[in-house]
Amino acid sequence: MYNKMKKKILIIEDEEDLVKGLKLNLSDEGYEVDWAVNGVEGLRKALEEITDLIILDIMLPEMDGLEVCRELRQKNIAIPIIMLTAKGEEIDKVVGLEIGADDYITKPFSIRELLARIKAHLRRAERDEKAVPKVYSFGDVEIDFANFKVRRKGKELDFTSIEMEILKYFIAHRGEVVARDDFLDKIWGYESYPTTRTIDNHILKLRKKIEENPAHPQYILSVYGGGYRFVG
Ligand code: CA
Repeated sequence: MYNKMKKKILIIEDEEDLVKGLKLNLSDEGYEVDWAVNGVEGLRKALEEITDLIILDIMLPEMDGLEVCRELRQKNIAIPIIMLTAKGEEIDKVVGLEIGADDYITKPFSIRELLARIKAHLRRAERDEKAVPKVYSFGDVEIDFANFKVRRKGKELDFTSIEMEILKYFIAHRGEVVARDDFLDKIWGYESYPTTRTIDNHILKLRKKIEENPAHPQYILSVYGGGYRFVG
């Protein structure tokens, strides 16, 4: 089980030697480190696993770092991203910041410099999180947004980033009818086009996790005409 006392950093980079050095240094600093060797795997990990910060190389096999960054931001995933650029990739730097990277560092870089920036971005992310309630409970479910944990009857549940975002949105709009389109806009963003069926599938999974009887939900209600109402 994920130990939230440790912040988890995902490195998306194909240069194995660089990653080995980074992993060693970051572990020494008390971080948990995960590694993806290409853009596709990196994107999947960032979406499906709990991550506090991403170190993202631009030149990657299968899907480049800019594309990974763009996809994450389009899905409203707000994990801090520090891009790695090589000398001469000035344009990528600018594009990276435009599409939502928080910072960049040019190779070769000093590890102390990188560590300082990681600390600064993690601190800032923690400040931003204070805008939502740290802990929210309904029925036998307790959501600990600060530590990215959901418990039901005291037992910890596995939640993906997207599921967490959906719950957060529901809680911010509890009692209101939320149309599927609202989710598409607010969680997936205007520029990606999941089908309404995608939303329904996520809701189905959420219900299985938090409802006593998913076939007769008492928290995530279906609204006639195509939407949902959260009443927890
Ligand atoms: Ca690379």
